[in-house]
Amino acid sequence: MKKVVKFGGSSLASAEQFKKVGDIIREDESRRFVVPSAPGKRNSNDTKVTDLLYKCYGMLQAGRPYLKVLEQLRVRYAEIIRGLGLKLSLAKEFEQIRKDMESDAGEMYVISRGEYLNGKIMAAYLGYEFIDAANVVRFKDDETLDAAETYKLIRVQLEVHDRAVIPGFYGSKKNGQIVTFSRGGSDISGAIVARAVHADIYENWTDVSGFMVADPRIVKDPQVIHTITYKELRELAYMGASVMHEDAIFPVSQVGIPINIRNTNKPEDEGTMIVERTSRIPKYTITGIAGMRGFAAVSVEKDKMNTAIGFCRKVLTAFEENNISVEHMPSGIDTMSVIVRQKEFAEKEQLVISRIEELCEPDHMDIESDFALIAVVGRGMKSTRGTAGRLFAALAHAHINVKMIDQGSSELNIIIAVSNDDFENAVRAIYQIFVDAQL
Ligand code: ASP
Repeated sequence: MKKVVKFGGSSLASAEQFKKVGDIIREDESRRFVVPSAPGKRNSNDTKVTDLLYKCYGMLQAGRPYLKVLEQLRVRYAEIIRGLGLKLSLAKEFEQIRKDMESDAGEMYVISRGEYLNGKIMAAYLGYEFIDAANVVRFKDDETLDAAETYKLIRVQLEVHDRAVIPGFYGSKKNGQIVTFSRGGSDISGAIVARAVHADIYENWTDVSGFMVADPRIVKDPQVIHTITYKELRELAYMGASVMHEDAIFPVSQVGIPINIRNTNKPEDEGTMIVERTSRIPKYTITGIAGMRGFAAVSVEKDKMNTAIGFCRKVLTAFEENNISVEHMPSGIDTMSVIVRQKEFAEKEQLVISRIEELCEPDHMDIESDFALIAVVGRGMKSTRGTAGRLFAALAHAHINVKMIDQGSSELNIIIAVSNDDFENAVRAIYQIFVDAQL
């Protein structure tokens, strides 16, 4: 058994947190490859190390005295080292960072140092080999990942090391220039390492006990999802639910490596398993609910639209030409609506409308804004009769008007639109009928 374990910033924010992580790793021999983030917040008023590094770089660029911030960072790491009782000095590393900053090493280099330094501490603490991600995670000149080369480099390095720490978030181009993923990108690093070494499982340790059925800011203490498929996760993530970076899914889902989301502060909790396929029937028919406010719909009406060949294409052309992505497209016999993100649409609406007029000559057109989309997702819906009935009964009972309904052909999701104001009540009503009513 071979596990790759990634620990997020809150799991490594202080020496106390490091100790929990150490216990978790030592408890299971198969936790051989460790991918750390940079230290996160110790409390709600604290600042993440990566944010301090951004600040440091910003000050350097503005010609302001950045050394004070660098000193603040040095103290933060020194506290962790002292708290762990290690005889490690990062003086040389900090001196190098200062020199590199002076010689214009670039923003990505600076912000990557949080993971680099944390990796050094983690390796010393565990007695594992330190492998600089710059040597094994390869980016192309356009700053996208060179996946094939990266897998090869990691495999070659890790073949000779039984246990190792590889910092998350960054890698380098062939010429050595450091490149980072987008924020939260250590999740991607962990997935890449898991894929490269053919891990049996990729454990992603964070500060929640898994993926919740609904957003805890809307539903109080929602249940944790025990098992979710990659497809379901994608549907929920698309609608705004998140516990990890979306791009972390692809490298492992492609080869069927499961991800286990775990809680560093509650290691006894099983967390959520994210898998390619499963025979486990979800406990509540639905797997999860997610949604977002801020959508608009353009409705187009034209007599005999159903027989006008190419009509939909022409409407969509107006959106495409204006570079607006289309979310959904519910239609009737002589009407079709195009749902878009309001923010994206607002500044170009007149251009789109006049182009539709020109291309389609509709009888009538209407724009409606300020509504929310809610996705009710679950592989269990396919085999259960009455799911839609229960869903709409619950919404009717809560006096919520449903503006649009869209069921994907895979029967994996039902998407509804409600007004922005009804959004939270709708999520709670759906949660109640499917989860609370079954507990
Ligand atoms: N430290 C980086 C960030 O704050 C990357 C990560 O934590 O995954 O975004």
